[in-house]
Amino acid sequence: MAPRTIKVDALVVGGGIAGMQSALDLADQGYQVALVEKQPSIGGKMIELSKVFPTLDCCSCITTPKMSAVAHNSNIQLFTYCDIQSVDKQGDGRFVAQVIQKPRYVDIETCTACRQCEYACPIDLPHPFDQNLGVHRAIYVPFSTAVPQKALIDIDNCILCGKCERVCPVGCVDFTQQPEELAIEATAIVLATGFEITPTDAKAEYGGGKLLNVVNALTVERLLAPTGPYGHVLRPSDGKEPDSIAYIQCAGSRDKSLGVEYCSRICCMYAIKQSMLISGALPLADIAIYYMDIRTFGKGYDQFYQTAKAMGVQFIKGKVAKITEDENQNPIVRVELIDEGSQVVERQHDMVVLSVGMVSKYDPRTIYDVNVAGDGFVDTPLTNVSPCVTSRPGVFVSGSAAGPMDIVDSIVMAGAAAAEAAAYIQATGPNGHGGGRSIAAGEEKELAHA
Ligand SMILES: Cc1cc2nc3c(=O)[nH]c(=O)nc-3n(C[C@H](O)[C@H](O)[C@H](O)COP(=O)(O)OP(=O)(O)OC[C@H]3O[C@@H](n4cnc5c(N)ncnc54)[C@H](O)[C@@H]3O)c2cc1C
Repeated sequence: MAPRTIKVDALVVGGGIAGMQSALDLADQGYQVALVEKQPSIGGKMIELSKVFPTLDCCSCITTPKMSAVAHNSNIQLFTYCDIQSVDKQGDGRFVAQVIQKPRYVDIETCTACRQCEYACPIDLPHPFDQNLGVHRAIYVPFSTAVPQKALIDIDNCILCGKCERVCPVGCVDFTQQPEELAIEATAIVLATGFEITPTDAKAEYGGGKLLNVVNALTVERLLAPTGPYGHVLRPSDGKEPDSIAYIQCAGSRDKSLGVEYCSRICCMYAIKQSMLISGALPLADIAIYYMDIRTFGKGYDQFYQTAKAMGVQFIKGKVAKITEDENQNPIVRVELIDEGSQVVERQHDMVVLSVGMVSKYDPRTIYDVNVAGDGFVDTPLTNVSPCVTSRPGVFVSGSAAGPMDIVDSIVMAGAAAAEAAAYIQATGPNGHGGGRSIAAGEEKELAHA
């Protein structure tokens, strides 16, 4: 059977904050947009965060309305749980992307996310959204504010007991669902595939991921989030409230041994943010941040750093060489104290947080034929005046797919990528002849009246 064909002006790949913003900016100018996300929900990393620096606004409260705006914009067609297999150029100069939408084994037209299926399902699985600290069922809604708010089945771990099917009040469980092939035609493409964190087990000197009370900063975001797994900051080994917490800066950046030589730009700020939030959650806890330099480059960021110091967070200049643990699984940090005559000391903490960096996990070269820079992120040639123009005409990059950046910069770049894509669509048009954007549904009538 021929794949279902969707014709749009722009294809946005990735539904994190950058992809959502690019899609909304294009859609608000009247362009038809297809937003394709590989996960079952849009939201990206931002929806996992607790609060944002430097305002300490609730992350979910900012991200959820954006997710909703994407879902309800009549110029945006949202395709989640999809893999883009190939992208070719047609004779008219437009791109055509072959996409596979994976089966959710739940009919998303009828599912109301009532969660009766979740309550009936007997299988518990580690929940990646909560950094595996909590669990989800084999049939589950991805998280409480997921968009689309629909269930799916992890078929690899389902025992096919049929309990979900029996309790579903609208009969939407469908074990016979097959992958669906889609062909998306678009004049321009915006790549917003984001980043991954440096793996926690990457550095053998820091325990190689084996020390239970050495966690990464994304885990702490979930511990601090109101929707988090415990609703409280507890250390993983024994569920104890930690009295002494240490942050290790540059635990996945500026480190040749990891192949990540660049600064990830966000880690100083998120460590400062988390230390302030922990001070609120655990007022008696001692918090130390071991650092090489503190980089607080953005608007209001340095004041944020000064506030953390005034709140009693200890900033200790020294690169941590090694982390081990004692018999009670308390991490022991070996560090050279630069400001104290470079003496090497060992200090015990209840929990250690690795300030992991941002790395690129997605290589777009085969599918999109764009160049990738030495750091693994999408290359934006320096000869270009725009930071979102890639090596391939018609393909633009948005947000952290181009390199480490925070939310503010991702949003700024998303707007710029949308503007570049709009200019390209105007110049080449839906038929490749300068025809501009396609006419939105319902707009024909308005134009006829004008
Ligand atoms: C611990 C931590 C704390 C942070 N705290 C803050 C903070 O307080 N303030 C701040 O400004 N910044 C913070 N950040 C940075 C912030 O998370 C990023 O700036 C932001 O998430 C970048 O958004 P993005 O859309 O570019 O990428 P992402 O959030 O990574 O989104 C990319 C999306 O693309 C999808 N995708 C990837 N590959 C494909 C593909 N091939 N096909 C389809 N879809 C794909 C992904 O599933 C994802 O949904 C923090 C980061 C970390 C790690």
